[in-house]
Amino acid sequence: KQFKEYGISEPIVKALEGLGYTEPTEVQRKVLPVAFSKTDITVKSQTGSGKTAAFGIPICELVDWEENKPQALILTPTRELADQVKEDITNIGRFKRIKAAAVYGKQPFAYQQAELKQKCHVVVGTPGRVLDHIERGTLNLERIEYLVLDEADEMLNMGFVEQVEAIINKLPKQRMTMLFSATLPENVENLQKKYMIDPKHIEI
Ligand code: AMP
Repeated sequence: KQFKEYGISEPIVKALEGLGYTEPTEVQRKVLPVAFSKTDITVKSQTGSGKTAAFGIPICELVDWEENKPQALILTPTRELADQVKEDITNIGRFKRIKAAAVYGKQPFAYQQAELKQKCHVVVGTPGRVLDHIERGTLNLERIEYLVLDEADEMLNMGFVEQVEAIINKLPKQRMTMLFSATLPENVENLQKKYMIDPKHIEI
């Protein structure tokens, strides 16, 4: 099955072609239909499987370009991953002019604040700094419809559980949550039980 057979629109298909993504990887084939039905989903898969595009494609497709407030929030364990995800989303959403911002510690707060003030469809960040922005009122969550917990096991290993929960508790209840993790230890299962609704399970 080709990307366009999943109901992906022309601007996104064109961007994927430009990236050399000729056909979906296994994780993408499994995640795309679930994500397009806006069902919560837990995915056990490794990096290198194409997981970023598995959530990046539906997010770029589903966000409303006209809306100025962020519609998707992606939490990552590290700054490097946040930058990588921002870049991938920007590339996939290029012809739809999707704007993504990355927020993480050890970078001036003011710069990120300015980025968040502009039109921004997708926010990618590490839990500590994301929570900081929420508490300072520089990140508006009112319109968030899509939440991604990327490398959830790593995020919890790094001690971010409290921040992750504090962030989720501030999000609109009506949303789709996608959890990606290489392993599913008890603390990740707990997060899933507490904050996801009948998640579909996919293992690669
Ligand atoms: P990830 O698992 O998201 O870190 O992706 C691993 C690598 O696979 C990245 O370099 C992506 O650019 C690449 N990739 C993702 N999806 C596809 C695809 N459908 N076809 C070819 N390469 C892909």
